[in-house]
Amino acid sequence: MNIVILSRNENLYSTSRLAEEGKKRGHIIEVIDPLKCDLIIEKEKPSIYYQDRYLDYVDAIIPRIGASVTFFGCAVVRQFEMMNVFTTVTSDAIIRSRDKLRSFQRLSKARIGMPKTVFTNYSRDVEEVISHVGGTPVIIKLLEGTQGLGVVLAETKNAAESVLEAFNGLQARALVQEYIAEAKGADLRALVVDGHVVGAMKRQGKEGEFRSNLHRGGSAEIVKLNEAELRVAMNASRALKLPVCGVDMLQSARGPLLLEVNSTPGLEGIESATGRNIAKAIITFIERNRR
Ligand code: ADP
Repeated sequence: MNIVILSRNENLYSTSRLAEEGKKRGHIIEVIDPLKCDLIIEKEKPSIYYQDRYLDYVDAIIPRIGASVTFFGCAVVRQFEMMNVFTTVTSDAIIRSRDKLRSFQRLSKARIGMPKTVFTNYSRDVEEVISHVGGTPVIIKLLEGTQGLGVVLAETKNAAESVLEAFNGLQARALVQEYIAEAKGADLRALVVDGHVVGAMKRQGKEGEFRSNLHRGGSAEIVKLNEAELRVAMNASRALKLPVCGVDMLQSARGPLLLEVNSTPGLEGIESATGRNIAKAIITFIERNRR
């Protein structure tokens, strides 16, 4: 098969691992920067022009679209969809997953446990918002933050008020969320491929840090998920129509609580923590579905 990895940089760990495993399985792999594609739109003949040629021979794509290039990156994915090219995740599903509020609304309907969350179009009555999630401390999150940036722990009502005011001043939308203290600065990341969990790790934030993101200095180790945790990961993947995704959850006194579903999960942390070949699982998922 001709498989295209849509990625801005072929040297990134995830991109190079997917290319390596694809080649090992006899496919022709190309890494294409979505921002360098021209989309040609005309009646019944959608096409994509890249450098000096038309990409009219592609069987499948693996989108690795970073948050900063969601708009154009997803337009390229959508163009491939119009050309009937198989994609591991659709443009609509990527766009949906980038908005935490939109995802949470869908996931709550799918009966998935989550920290109680309030979204307000800036209420001056912060006290009321805080009481909705059970009082301080609370977590305040930018709607489109990633890698733990834009996630704040506000210990007091005054702190929460200042943070909400600051975000509001920057015209940045935010969620207010119940703080899950029992998680103790750790979370779970399940890697889902083809709707099944193919690897899971527990991430622990560095000393004194409530955020467990590896980008924030956290560490990771392999973990075996229990039934309830497996169910949350698989249901979240199904609810957001993301057959390949990373599902983050917190372990709480009332069971696993979903934090976020990532449509472009990094492979480095999970492959090194678990020793599993996740890149190969993604390639064989394409082989099964393309046939
Ligand atoms: P991002 O998408 O920026 O990674 P997350 O919502 O995943 O944002 O939050 C980053 C980290 O902060 C999580 O991995 C978790 O360790 C911690 N965290 C987030 N929300 C909560 C919460 N409600 N209670 C306790 N810890 C949280």
